[in-house]
Amino acid sequence: MGAALEIRNLHVSVEGQPILKGVNLVVKQGEIHALMGPNGSGKSTLANTLMGHPAYEVTGGQMIFDGVDMAELGTDERSRMGLFLAFQYPVAVPGVTVANFLRNALNARRKVDNPEDKGVPIPQFRKMMIEKMDLLQMDHSFGGRYLNEGFSGGEKKRAEILQMAMLQPKIAIMDETDSGLDIDALRIVSEGVAKLSSEDLGVLVITHYQRILNHIRPQYVHIMMDGQIVESGGPDLALHLEEQGYDWLREKQANGDA
Ligand code: ADP
Ligand code: MG
Repeated sequence: MGAALEIRNLHVSVEGQPILKGVNLVVKQGEIHALMGPNGSGKSTLANTLMGHPAYEVTGGQMIFDGVDMAELGTDERSRMGLFLAFQYPVAVPGVTVANFLRNALNARRKVDNPEDKGVPIPQFRKMMIEKMDLLQMDHSFGGRYLNEGFSGGEKKRAEILQMAMLQPKIAIMDETDSGLDIDALRIVSEGVAKLSSEDLGVLVITHYQRILNHIRPQYVHIMMDGQIVESGGPDLALHLEEQGYDWLREKQANGDA
């Protein structure tokens, strides 16, 4: 049995304002889920809350990962358990290269597992990074770039996918870039996910882009509106959304038969 991320009746407030109003969702290792929904529906709030961002106050419900309630766990501990949360608004870090950043992330992870760990030797790290870059068809020069400095939305996603390849999480949550509708970024995520997905990796891809099936093949599709998942289904749900938009769901909600 693989690990699962179970979100149970999750309520979250930001600055005293309720944003998530009872979210239920289960993502298991080996499954690809898409979370869709209009702008402002609370998708990124869910991602940020799962990451343990301090601005997001859990006022009810639970987030259980691999059988453990994450409520009291910090971001690092969540990551160490095998939950990967791609940063939606990654900051530029002057003077820190992608390779440096990845080596620090990997070493931090190893040290928690074994406090005596002296860090991955540089030659071994280089070899591993080059293997992963080749798998993802990335230019080797990418490792020498300064993290997020002048990165396009697509390059930020490339850095995230490479980080995911290096850290080998059980479940990954990929939120769309701050640039929003960025087809290039979505394509990079979908190709990366396809290359890395196996029985071991579960993925939750978050986007408001309706023609998602052109890029990602999720087994499960969920639609969030006004802080709740109002509809779940298979790929046909994404197809329906592409044809009909969100209006039919808004009407369904308004009529109270959702
Ligand atoms: P989505 O990702 O689906 O577009 P968000 O989760 O970003 O939606 O936003 C949902 C609502 O929560 C919006 O009304 C937004 O203004 C509010 N919100 C989210 N994060 C913050 C924050 N850090 N501070 C204030 N309001 C926020
Ligand atoms: Mg968002």
